[in-house]
Amino acid sequence: MAVIESMQKELYPELEQNCAKVEKTVGDFARDTYGFRPDFQGVEVIVKEQPTIYTLLLKRVGDYVKAVAVPIGKALGVYKPQPEGLNRIELDPTADRNVAMHEYLHYLQDCLGAIKRVTEALGQKARSYLEGGATYATERVTGKNSGVYPRERAAFAREVERVGLRRAFAYA
Ligand SMILES: [Zn+2]
Repeated sequence: MAVIESMQKELYPELEQNCAKVEKTVGDFARDTYGFRPDFQGVEVIVKEQPTIYTLLLKRVGDYVKAVAVPIGKALGVYKPQPEGLNRIELDPTADRNVAMHEYLHYLQDCLGAIKRVTEALGQKARSYLEGGATYATERVTGKNSGVYPRERAAFAREVERVGLRRAFAYA
């Protein structure tokens, strides 16, 4: 899909060489399931029910405290870098194209070395930065507001204005 190719070229023209080894799963999966086919693959994509996220509420019952697990949300996708073996994207069966693209962009961040650099540079704030970048870039590719991470996305957009998309995304 042209917009994805141009996005990847803009972000990292050398990526094709670095990630050329793996040439199957994401593309086939994405094409069959979501109707688009990214060009670069170094990741396996599996569809797997993702966990519901609970918060614990503590209630006072007489003389003791009872803990109640209340569901507050559900993760729809996750990117799992593997130090050995193929990196992995897991998508919930209900995940849509935005989720697939979001996780795929985490994979791109990883290919670019950004996850490592951002984590080293920002420590605890790394997650927000990486989520902002993935969200910003996803919306740019799909042209849709994905509605997730609004604050992180806005902070990342300011960074793009300051240093440009490629530098902001690759953190290089
Ligand atoms: Zn994310």
